[in-house]
Amino acid sequence: MANFRTHITVAVVASATATLSCMQADVISHQQAVILFALGVLAGILPDVDSDYSVPTRMLFKLLSVLSAGLVVACFVNQLPLIYLLGLALLAIFAVQYIVYPLFASVTEHRGLFHSLPAAMLFALSIVMLGLYGLHWSVDFSWLAAFFMCGGYLVHLLLDEFYSVDFMGRSLKASFGTALTLFSPSSWLSYLLLYMAVGAGLYMLPLPGWV
Ligand SMILES: [Zn+2]
Repeated sequence: MANFRTHITVAVVASATATLSCMQADVISHQQAVILFALGVLAGILPDVDSDYSVPTRMLFKLLSVLSAGLVVACFVNQLPLIYLLGLALLAIFAVQYIVYPLFASVTEHRGLFHSLPAAMLFALSIVMLGLYGLHWSVDFSWLAAFFMCGGYLVHLLLDEFYSVDFMGRSLKASFGTALTLFSPSSWLSYLLLYMAVGAGLYMLPLPGWV
């Protein structure tokens, strides 16, 4: 499989190319260009959060622990003295790092559900939902952002498959076919739920004007 540096380099190049194309087509503002570019890069490393101690996973949980500490402080800032706030913030960091992270690592399997096409679609639909209802983006821009998410995600999966091919020996490594999965009988229930969530999202969300 491709390593973190390869993934981030390819994600930056692919996302920059796609963003520049949108800018040349004059369909996005400068601010929107920054959002799309960042989303494309993020999507290019996102699938590896299922790798228990990968760089993106460690970064994600560090960020989550800081965010949860901030959230706890923001919630109780007017009710508790500073020393308690500090204690609560430390507790939140500890809980994320030593309880939530190991729990997440134990339930996710590397190159399991996260390395699949329906996962790419689900993350893309989540962006539409977040854009529309959380950030009040237009329908068209929310879907454009979803395409960047899905595109970056697929670039990652394709790169993993590409690295499964041993070009020198012209053979396939054992990992071939484990990155771009459509369905796996061994975890059929999870896939069924994923496809149901994707179907429900497509059915409920408003479609962009160009469809
Ligand atoms: Zn991967």
